[in-house]
Amino acid sequence: MTEKIDVFEAAAAGSLESIKTLGRVHLEAKNDRGWTPLMFAARFGHAGVLEYLLSEAKVDPNVVNKDGKTAADLAELWGAAEAVEVLSRLAPSAKKATVATPAPAPVPAGSGASSSSNIADWWKKRTIHEIKPLHFSGSIINRLSFLRTDKEYLQESVQAPSTRFILFQDHGVLFKSTTKHLAYASHNDIKDLIGPDPLNNLPEGLVLVFLGADEASSPEPGDSHAEILVKGRRGIGYWALDLSAKTPLATPALKASIEQFVNTYTEMRPATFGLSLSESGLVSQARSVVDWNKRNQFCAGCGRKSLSLEGGHKRTCPPAVLSEEDGKEVESDCLAHRGVQNFTYPRTDPVVITCVISRDGERVLLGRQAAWPKGTYSCLAGFVEPGESLEEAARREVKEESGIHVGHVMYHSSQPWPFPNTLMVGCHAEAISEDINIALEDQELEDARWFTRTEILEALKGSRSATFGKPVEPGVLRLPPGTAIAHVILRAWATGEGEVPQPRM
Ligand SMILES: [Zn+2]
Repeated sequence: MTEKIDVFEAAAAGSLESIKTLGRVHLEAKNDRGWTPLMFAARFGHAGVLEYLLSEAKVDPNVVNKDGKTAADLAELWGAAEAVEVLSRLAPSAKKATVATPAPAPVPAGSGASSSSNIADWWKKRTIHEIKPLHFSGSIINRLSFLRTDKEYLQESVQAPSTRFILFQDHGVLFKSTTKHLAYASHNDIKDLIGPDPLNNLPEGLVLVFLGADEASSPEPGDSHAEILVKGRRGIGYWALDLSAKTPLATPALKASIEQFVNTYTEMRPATFGLSLSESGLVSQARSVVDWNKRNQFCAGCGRKSLSLEGGHKRTCPPAVLSEEDGKEVESDCLAHRGVQNFTYPRTDPVVITCVISRDGERVLLGRQAAWPKGTYSCLAGFVEPGESLEEAARREVKEESGIHVGHVMYHSSQPWPFPNTLMVGCHAEAISEDINIALEDQELEDARWFTRTEILEALKGSRSATFGKPVEPGVLRLPPGTAIAHVILRAWATGEGEVPQPRM
């Protein structure tokens, strides 16, 4: 299986070798935000890719995106010094467009803090820059949720030769061991396992979930499919299959297929942190829905085995049961069939994670748990409880963990966290008190402290951020890696930029 190269991701990642394999039509392509590969290379500061695109491929440096910005504007805006240098040297006549426009300033009401707070001032002054979607949220597939009830479509999709299956076993997901990519099985690899009618009669112990279709993928060169169609719809289908109950690998065909690609099952953490954005989003959806199915095999009302519906996105108590008296089918008397709560759906648990800013606007409050690597601090976080708004949850958690009172709370961005089904909701908030008392109410933290902007900026630099598992020098502040939302909301505050994830790469 060869991987299709996404020209925008390749340019953003600085993959010159991949870029060189692509023709002019790809190198001059625009995404739905009007961004070209040249713009991505400029924004992420990849001088080598810029040199190639301008000198060899001769792409036009004057193209503007939907915000009216050229590659040179983006390099300058993002402080990519090497990219600015290459562009001014190789495309000196490229026009400069405008700089970012300050965003409107929403002011929250009823927080108890004054309306002229520092966070409100910062919110008004910040400039908005688009960033990539956060890790675990960048899937490129169309989930096609409206087709989950279309059994014909699902049946065709599950059997199509082009369909790709992500395989899970216990807590692991199947990787290509030699690359940072997921491995995919075909229907042929797994047909003996799932049987001829997997939607209605999946063998005991397996979990099968329809994820959606990649409508943008074209068949590989030399592929016999002129066009991949499933019930008339274009796209490569994606499914997840959990084999946990089938150890060791049940069929010789599957075992051979896995060995052929030198694939291995790898623990989700930390392996999935190294995936491309699009595969991180795919595995995040797959893992969360598979895990939910495994934990909800029985009806909570009567304890009978529940049924999987809608391609693995819904479970229900069986409506009919066998009578103990005569063995005939009778209507179930389960509580699940009374009222409207007769189905269960995959759950998502919101956690609010808060970057608390001091009253003078120059420091942030971070805490650490005893189990974390030495020197590692992060933003305070906690689960949102029933009957609680995000703002209230942020205030409660910060108060319980540090004793600090919080006023205004402003939403920034969110990140799915598939371990197994959390949604991290990233906020900025303003402290309205100064004195930390971590033993006050909740003893969850080992320490909580204020850190200056200079300390945060220093720790955000590449070598000091992605640190989990690495040895650390004493007294050095470590922050979560760039794949974590804590890093993103801290960076947005420290650099004064209101970064927002792009609608789509
Ligand atoms: Zn029941």
